[in-house]
Formats: sequence, C-alpha cells, structure tokens
Amino acid sequence: MRVFALLFALVCVLLSAAPAQANTALPPGHKPIKYTRWAYPSQVTYGPIETGQGDTGMAPARGAFLTLPFMGPHYITSLFSHCYPLYGDDSRICRYDGAVASKGTGGPDPGFTAGFAQTAGGHDYLYYAGHDGYDYGLTYEPIAAAAPGRVILANWLVPGCTTCLSGQTVEIDHGNGLITFYGHMSHIWVDKGQYVYRGQVIGISGMTGTATGPHLHFGVYRTNGGGPVDPYGWSGSYPDPWTKDAGNLWLGGSPRFAPIQMPNVTVNAASRLGNPSAVDVSWSSPGNMSFTVFVVSPSGVRSAWTTSSGSSSATFQGKPGLTYWFWVSATSDLGWSGGGGSPVVQVPQRVHGDLTS
Ligand SMILES: [Zn+2]
Repeated sequence: MRVFALLFALVCVLLSAAPAQANTALPPGHKPIKYTRWAYPSQVTYGPIETGQGDTGMAPARGAFLTLPFMGPHYITSLFSHCYPLYGDDSRICRYDGAVASKGTGGPDPGFTAGFAQTAGGHDYLYYAGHDGYDYGLTYEPIAAAAPGRVILANWLVPGCTTCLSGQTVEIDHGNGLITFYGHMSHIWVDKGQYVYRGQVIGISGMTGTATGPHLHFGVYRTNGGGPVDPYGWSGSYPDPWTKDAGNLWLGGSPRFAPIQMPNVTVNAASRLGNPSAVDVSWSSPGNMSFTVFVVSPSGVRSAWTTSSGSSSATFQGKPGLTYWFWVSATSDLGWSGGGGSPVVQVPQRVHGDLTS
C-alpha cells in the first residue's frame, strides 16, 4: 500500500510538472511567480458574483465616478488585498470588508504559487496575495470603459512580451487624479490619445500576459505612480491597512452597470398583399445603432443584403414558392452588438394568370 501511495504521489508530481505551458513570468509588481496557463477556468463555480445589484453599505466617496467595466453578472475571481496590494507579500489577503484569508487554508495553488487554494493542494485558488485590483471572470467578452476619459495606454504592457504582466492593456486617465486599468485583453479597440465615453467598448477580454485563464484585471490607480486604490473602498471594523485608499468610488455608492442603451433588435417581415413576391422587411432597436441585414435562403445560406444607420425598412424580392427569413445585427455607437431574427416568410406559388416563363 505504501508503495502504491508513493507511486501515486510520483505520478501526481509528474502530471503536475508535465504541461509544457508551465511557465515562470513576472506578474505586475515584478516578483517572479510560477503559474500554469489553463490550470483552471477563469469563471470558477464558487466565490462572489458581481451582479451590478448589490449594495456596498458604504457612502460613496466624494468624486465617486465608476461604473462596472462589463455588462451582466460575473464572478469575482480575485480581489484587492488591503494588506499589501503591491505583489510580493504572500501571507495574507485582506478583503474590503475586513475579512482576512491566510495561506493556511489550502496552501499555495500548485498552478499559481501566489494564489491561496481553497482545498489543500488544489488548482482552485480564489484570491491571491499582493493583488492590486479585481479579476472578473470574463471569457472573451466586451470590456466597458468604467468612466469617461482619455486613453493613455493601448498596447502590450511590456512591448514584445505576450506572457508578461497584464499583456495587452488599456489605461484611461479620468482627469481626477485616477486612472483605470484593463489587463489581459485579447483585442484592443481604442487608440492612445482617444477620448472614450462611459460604457464604451474598449476591446475584448482574454488571457494575454501572466494569466491562468481568461479574465479581466480591473484596477484603479493614482496617476503618476501614486499606487493602487480599491474601488470598493473599505468597510472593515478596523482601520484600512492600505492608507492610500480613496474610498468607495462607485458612482452612487454601489457598483452598477453603465446606464447605456444596449441593442434590442426587433425584425418584421411579411409578404405583400397583391404582390406576394415582394417581402417587406423592417428592423429597429432603441438607441443609436447601425444595422446589417442578412437574408437566410431556403438552403440556409445567410448573405448580407443591406445596411442602415438607424431603424429602417426595405423590400426584398423573393422567388415564388420559396421561404426566407431575415437576421439583423446591430452595433451601438458605443460598440455593443446584438441581433435578432424575423419570422419565416413563404412567398406563395404563382396563382393562375401569372406569367410562367
Ligand atoms: Zn488581476
């Protein structure tokens, strides 16, 4: 039995050492750590969910200005550690509400040595020590600017290094002494120097840089190297260990989604009475949208048919006896996409009296 246990342990060691992706790279803060890509999915099935509905129970700071950098509920997979948000201390994680996690819980995650595993030896870290922002479980999804401002970085954080730090990164200067920071992106849709609106899509999340899976690293920092602050503030019953904090920075006091119009597409299609091969198609959505209209033929092939800026309508010439339907995609002026389909329309067979050539 002991031999079996030893063999089993050896196999585990070999398995854990096997992935070629196992890597050492520098997280933000420049302390070398060991991490494994794909050690676990970014959206773990435990931990808190940021729903955009919660109440921090804290008054907003003067000058609170942020909305959430995404739409819809998402897991928080790592949070700001008030004990030492500078990457390096690896003993404790101190949450905004005063709760403290220590590495005694499950020990370091073998796939990510800065993370505290939830179970002993497990690939299931939730938070990690030294973290200076929030990780949200976004898997290749649009990222929203958390407030209006000017883009001051839209590039690899370390030019030429795809596995360094936060990878493809956007920073926005909000003109109030604070910048927001969006890391590990797969695509960047804005340029340095550009002004962005609240809720504007600045790119797509990903796992560039040092990442164990796709997620968004969202941070708030004082300008000119003044260090990180926790946008959720501090509600602990003892003094905030991170004295540089700026309080609860959520607009209105609790994290909310940007109050912007998302696409909500309605499509109608009907064969015209008296001229049944003419199919009248109309499409609309609230907000400022540009549309692309596709026709889906009886064979299932979808082809672009027409476009419009704003809600519109057009007439499609169908062939008698065939069925069609229409798909309409919409993109808002802030970069959000959506779509919708029409009912299926059958163009009647020609009735007697029609020309049949
Ligand atoms: Zn992070």
